[in-house]
Amino acid sequence: MSDYAQRLEALAAAAADRCTGCGHCFEACPTAREIGLAADEAGARIGELVALTRGETPAAPLRQWLDACDGSARCTAACPEDINVRQWVTIAKMKALEATRAREVGAANAAGRFRHMAQAVRLLASMQLPSETLKKILAPAERRTADVLFYTGCNVLRTPHIVLNVMDILDALELDFDVVGGTAHCCGVYQFQEADMPTYERMGHRTFQRFGQSGASKVLTWCPTCTKNFDELEESVEPAAFDMGHVSEFLAANLDALRARFRPDQPRRRVVIHEHLGIGATLESIRALLSAVPKLELVELAQDSGFSYACGGQAAKFRGREQAIHRALAEGAVAAGADTIVTMYHSCHRALAGAEAVHPGLTVVNFTDVLAEALGRGGHPDYYRLYKKGGAMDEAVAAARRFLSDNGVRIDETSVKSLTADIFDETGLAGGREAFAQAFTAMAKTG
Ligand code: SF4
Ligand code: SF4
Repeated sequence: MSDYAQRLEALAAAAADRCTGCGHCFEACPTAREIGLAADEAGARIGELVALTRGETPAAPLRQWLDACDGSARCTAACPEDINVRQWVTIAKMKALEATRAREVGAANAAGRFRHMAQAVRLLASMQLPSETLKKILAPAERRTADVLFYTGCNVLRTPHIVLNVMDILDALELDFDVVGGTAHCCGVYQFQEADMPTYERMGHRTFQRFGQSGASKVLTWCPTCTKNFDELEESVEPAAFDMGHVSEFLAANLDALRARFRPDQPRRRVVIHEHLGIGATLESIRALLSAVPKLELVELAQDSGFSYACGGQAAKFRGREQAIHRALAEGAVAAGADTIVTMYHSCHRALAGAEAVHPGLTVVNFTDVLAEALGRGGHPDYYRLYKKGGAMDEAVAAARRFLSDNGVRIDETSVKSLTADIFDETGLAGGREAFAQAFTAMAKTG
């Protein structure tokens, strides 16, 4: 067993030693209820979790619970002993897979999931970003020299206007920073989830070490999954020489400096935040940031914000529940007289970007769109929103043609088919897929 694997074992063992078996974590778990595991059997499930941690074969109901977990962290919030139960469950899930499945099966699953994600990210980024910016993001972390690293992760490059917004905001703060991301700096989530630990150590664990090699004193994360994984599977395992936190928390800590730079002539907006709990203080931070934007009014709406820490990912297993969340949010926003939904993360943005096709009075923007605009910057086109709305594609196609040529990437009809499925099979609100499929197939045919 590697040093890293031993440290993970030790973390889980410490949680099991401290656990009193009160069961509050299991009682609070939304996905356990979603799959029909009874809250009054908490004692039995926790007993099984402790037994697995101490080397016993995982019991069937425990495996169901672990498989259902979507990382909401409601368990951690409920634990009176301050145990990071989400972290414990994540490690236990990996151990259960190791105990019940050949590593090769998990390795093949992880490789397939990574390949699919990498291809979609590469195409979508190449369709929406100039090559100079893309090269800057993809350059190796260990060669960077700035004191602050803005780490994008992989998947936000499907909606790259968000990355450009954050860069604008950090520029406005006159910060010395480098931006780093893409699949060569993956957090290794698929490998960990599939219990392919040797590959995880070469990917996620290695990416984290590369941040340290850059000499940066601060790493600002964007992706909630990367933030959670690096916090619970790296920083907790071995403290880093750098400080790490979500970019929204960093911006909230610099709110006075931002407020001083906000321009007063902002559009009047009535805003509902699409909320998620579970990743540090991101929700409170985004709320504080938006509250400081001139002429922006936050509208409170009761939401199912504790079901998952972000849309998609592990929560995508619960398609019906996710769909209900998105529908209720958009309908609730309209009923409350809001004109704007603000998303916290990129996966939520992708899920809701097409809401305007269903509710024409609503605009969906990311919180970074609002902040960058308030600073007199931003304005980067959100092509993904155009794809999802399903209306005229002329602007999106013209941009894609230009950027693909700049990036030296060709797109064929098979890739368009795969992208169409990728974009429109996700849970969320959207217009029809035909406009995207037809316009981009025509583009692929003409080269
Ligand atoms: S992280 Fe959320 S889904 Fe996973 S076990 Fe904890 S409460 Fe349940
Ligand atoms: S809430 Fe904490 S102490 Fe109680 S069973 Fe869960 S992990 Fe153990």
